[in-house]
Amino acid sequence: MHIRCSGLARPMICPGYVHLELPKSPSNPAAEEGTAAGEYLERLLLNKPLGACASNNVYFDDDMKFYLDPIIEDVKSRATSNILCEQNIDWQTSSGIWLKGKYDIAFIDEKGTLCVEDLKYGWGIVEVKENWQLIAYAIGEIIRRGQAFDKISLKIHQPRPHHEDGRTREWLITYSELLQYKDKIENRLQEIADGKKDLQTSSQCKYCMGTGEACPAFNRLFYRSLEITTEFFQDSIDDDELAMQLEQIKRAEEVIKIKKDSLTELGVLRIKQGKNIPGYVLSKKYGNRIWKNGINPEAIQMMTGKNIIEKTIMTPAKAEKVGVSKDLVNQLTDKKFLGNKLEKKDSTEIGNKIFGNNNPNGGN
Ligand code: SF4
Repeated sequence: MHIRCSGLARPMICPGYVHLELPKSPSNPAAEEGTAAGEYLERLLLNKPLGACASNNVYFDDDMKFYLDPIIEDVKSRATSNILCEQNIDWQTSSGIWLKGKYDIAFIDEKGTLCVEDLKYGWGIVEVKENWQLIAYAIGEIIRRGQAFDKISLKIHQPRPHHEDGRTREWLITYSELLQYKDKIENRLQEIADGKKDLQTSSQCKYCMGTGEACPAFNRLFYRSLEITTEFFQDSIDDDELAMQLEQIKRAEEVIKIKKDSLTELGVLRIKQGKNIPGYVLSKKYGNRIWKNGINPEAIQMMTGKNIIEKTIMTPAKAEKVGVSKDLVNQLTDKKFLGNKLEKKDSTEIGNKIFGNNNPNGGN
């Protein structure tokens, strides 16, 4: 048996996942774009010819250049060893189960730290702390090199969505901390090898094909979330009850969305396989039109006599990216007020904002 490093987070929470028979996740445009972005990064980091498109025929566009070139410069400036990309790091746990995968980037920096880094080109936020994929890559890389390191730096580069810790996020751990995580992996995979099959729902479910039909635990959660909407019957509710009901509705919304997305994926897959889903057909979804590769304003002017170049101002976010100071951007921009929204606040975050977070124990 083997588990992909990229999917390790799921069995670390839900051991039963590996025992379910699940359909393969179908490819989609966002995944194809992510693959192309990875190849763009690899070719430029390894000084290979770039070409016009990736091996899956997705073109390298201006957005990729805009978002990925700074990451490439940053990696090249920190590496004091060969930069490795897409290196196989398969390793076998003592349970006999293999962990398999290829990381995006690894190198050693000037302090002798092993750096293992992953590009996430999608919009769904990926956290770096306790990221099992990076942990498994780092262990595999240490085994492959046959060399221990005092410090291991794990990084997520996620250049498109906003994150308060920045678009590149680091988690620096010691060798002994990494070994403790290795023990956790060994223990969990031993439990799985011994037959542990508990299904544990969590935020990981949204990446799991079990949500379509195969996973009874998620199905129970789904039907429970439908029931919740009929359980609220009070005419007047106090503040605590209001908070509790908002929390339950939020959770129910998340579960229903995961179910809708996975059933949609399953329906598309089945119709593509020639099956009949009553009342449903496949139609094609298109994005906005973009000019074909190689078409430029000069070519259009030559063909039509029309000048189609227009000067537009960059978005404030892009202006910051090219070096305009954040303070200046703040002074020169307005935000349209769109109305109030009710947000759930983390009490620790509020506490840190008020009292500062210098004391990790939160004491006086
Ligand atoms: S849907 Fe959730 S609970 Fe079910 S197998 Fe997948 S990760 Fe586990």
